[in-house]
Order: sequence, then structure tokens, then C-alpha cells
Amino acid sequence: MIHNDSGKVRYTSWGAARQVTGSMHLVTTPSGYTVLIDCGLDYEKRDQFEARNAHFPFDPATVDLVVLTHAHIDHSGNLPNLVRQGFTGPILCTGATAELSAFLLQDSLNIQRGELARMRESRSRKFRKKGKRHHAPVADLQTLYNNKHIQLVQEQTVELGFRKEWRADEALSVEFFEAGHILGAASVLLRIAVPEGELRLGFTGDLGNWGSPLVKDPVPMPALDYLVSESTYGGRMHQNLNDPREELAHYIRESCEKFNGKLVIPAFSVGRTQSILFTLNRMYHDGLLPRIRVFTDSPLAIRSTAVYNGNRHLLNDEARAFAEKHGSLFDFPGLQVIQDEMSTEIIGEYNEPCIIVSSAGMVEGGRIQQHVRMNIQNPFAIILIAGYCAEGTLGHRLLHGQRTVEINRSVREVYAKVARTDVFSAHPDHKGLLRYFDGVANPKLKGVFLVHGDETCMQALAADVKHCPVHIPNKGQSFLLDA
Ligand SMILES: [Zn+2]
Repeated sequence: MIHNDSGKVRYTSWGAARQVTGSMHLVTTPSGYTVLIDCGLDYEKRDQFEARNAHFPFDPATVDLVVLTHAHIDHSGNLPNLVRQGFTGPILCTGATAELSAFLLQDSLNIQRGELARMRESRSRKFRKKGKRHHAPVADLQTLYNNKHIQLVQEQTVELGFRKEWRADEALSVEFFEAGHILGAASVLLRIAVPEGELRLGFTGDLGNWGSPLVKDPVPMPALDYLVSESTYGGRMHQNLNDPREELAHYIRESCEKFNGKLVIPAFSVGRTQSILFTLNRMYHDGLLPRIRVFTDSPLAIRSTAVYNGNRHLLNDEARAFAEKHGSLFDFPGLQVIQDEMSTEIIGEYNEPCIIVSSAGMVEGGRIQQHVRMNIQNPFAIILIAGYCAEGTLGHRLLHGQRTVEINRSVREVYAKVARTDVFSAHPDHKGLLRYFDGVANPKLKGVFLVHGDETCMQALAADVKHCPVHIPNKGQSFLLDA
């Protein structure tokens, strides 16, 4: 509970304010009941990772409830740290989100441990260079949390299905609406009792596109008083929105078929990899996939794919009908799932034309770096970037035509073709966001808050929202909401 003598609902934006990552939104009811929507990691400045994530701007013990919109680490990744620092309440999310986030939190901890080992090694090297014999100080180098805290997150998790009202206390209830985006992703409707009656506050979470390959279309929340919306692609339009099968067929032709080359697709393990494998499977059944090997090389993607398979009721009609007819969503002849790290080398030595799908999507970290390094000097290879690449990432440098790049400490000239497609994007573009706002528009809507976007994207989107006043909160800015 947080003391609230304003008599009103207070909304404070503590993360993803004028930036994309680190989603964290605090809502306090007039009676003081406090809900945190998402608790994600802030990746905005890589060298400030620890400083931006280690401490919370509020006491975690005063939070009564966490609602998690979806499993992506920029929404869920700081939850174990919240628990470590005293949060003991329930964590409400869909079943699929609970399953996926268990893998993602473990993966994030492994990445933190790897970074830490590198930092310790580099500190020791500097010490040795200076001729000092004793060990470099490492006490300040720590991960944000450990396995015990991931375990506690799981123990505190309460699963809630879509369109079921969950009562938190006499003054607050929560309901999930399909957000699209990735499996289990939810938009969150809070119904809060206020002296005037009821206040309805909605959070989009991350939205998906209409007509996505696997997940359902986003469902706008009804009769809102206020909406807190993502704005990732505000002001930007997705390009070349062909049928995903045609799009992949084109790049397969231009690499594997015409030149016996390779098609390398960097893809996030959760969401994008499954969309691509499902599309390839559909192509196989449509006779559009040539007889070439398809390698998928990401342990996390393999585990996430199993969660998609186990939650088919959450998929769209087309995907469910396909699974019913063909038995499998993702398996087709020619697909080779790589389980261990050694096999990454084996793909490198495979000389036939093939498709390689591996993480991470921005070509930062993960096994994809090795595949890109091995193919970047092959003029018959295409590196197909299938989504947004943040500034400072290798994907961003490749997309901007850099001719020489450094990968895993080796410098490489770029001879491969670098291409980009938006057909697998997991976010709506400018038009899609406006379509969503049209869906929530109602006479009592009093305000839209834009979060989860670059400032220029938010400004461009705000200029086109006609229904009600638009706010772009600063980090830590609070708003008192009138019913
Ligand atoms: Zn997301």
C-alpha cells in the first residue's frame, strides 16, 4: 500500500517513458492499493545497465500486485530483482506468459553471468598489466538476481485467462484482453472504484499486427477512461507487406536457388522464430519451399516453440486449422533443430544452400553472431533482418550499409547482401496504432498516455490522435486521474 490522500487514482510512469525498454507503470487507488504493470529491464544505455536496473524508485515492499503483460524481458526482466528487494505479492499473468517468462528470465540471468565474467576478466587483465599481483576487486560486480529469485517469481505467479475478471481487493479488478504481439500477450484493463463510481484504465502492453501468422489480432478494450499505449512504430510505416510466404520465397530464390547461397535470418527466440518456422511449414505444404535444409539454432527458441505447441487454443483460427490438418505447426521435412553449441560449427561447414534461423534478432549476442560472421563474406548469402534494430547493434550497422564490421573481435568486410523485411514485425505501425485507437475511442475517453517508443515516434503519433488529449510522460511523472 502507498498512502494516497488525493482521493484520486494516481498513475506514475517509471519506465519506457520516452524510450522503448524498461516498462514499469505504477497505479495507486484512492484507498492506497498499489499495482505495478510490468517490471522490465532497461537496455537503453548498455554501459549503464547496472545503474539503470539495480534500484527501484519506490519501495518494492509497498507494491500489492504486479500485472505482467507478456514475457519479453523488457517487460518482465526485473521481476526477480523486485522480489529480491521485498515484493511478496501476487504476479498476475496468462499461463503462456508464465511459461515463456520462466525460460526468458533464466536466459537473461545466463547473459548477465556471461557479461560479468567478461568484466571480471578484463578488470584482472588491467590489474596484471599494472604489475599488481593480488586479485582485482570484484565485490561490486553482481547479477541483479539469482536462481532463487526466479523460483520465487514462479511461486508468486497467479495465472489468469483472457476475459475473466480477477478481483484484487474490493476497489480493484483486472481483466486481460488479447494484445496479439506474442503468445499469451495481454492488454490489461483495471476497473477501479472511485467516489464518482468506476474508473477504467487500460494498458495496451505491446500490441501485435492484424493478420499475424500465429497469434490473434489485438482486441481493443471497451469503455476506457484512460489508455496507456505503446508507440514503438509511431510515425513509421511497415514496408513491403506481402504475404509472408511470398516474401520468404523471394529471398530463398535470390540466395539459395539462383546462386546456391545461404539465407541467414536473425530472429528473436520468442515470437519471430515461431512465425518464420510456421511460414516455412506453410510454404512446404503449398509446394513453395525448395528441397533445402532449414536450420534453427537457438536453445531458447526451441523451448519457446514447445510452449506455442502446448497453447494452440491461444493461436488464431488459421494456425489452429493448419495444425489440425497437418498435425504440426512447425515441423516439416528438411528442418533441423540444433540442440548443442558444437552443431553451430557443423552448420558453418555445411556447403549446400540452406536457411539458418537463429537468435538474437538485432544480431547482438546469441549464436546468430557466429552465423553472420561465417557468411558475411559470401557474396551469395543474404542476411535478412526481420525487425527493428536499435542503434548501436550489429543489425543496425549492417542495415545502414557499413562495409566493414567487427564480430566477436574479428573484423570482416561485408560482401553478403543485407536485406530487410517487416512482414514478421510483432508491433503495429503508425496506421495500425491509429486503428487500435479508433477501436478504443468512446465519448468518455479522457486521455491517452504514450509510452514504449522513441520521443520522435511518440510526437508523430500524438499529432495524429484526434479522440482526446495525449500525454507523453517523463520518467517519474505522476498524473491524478479523474473519473
Ligand atoms: Zn514485447
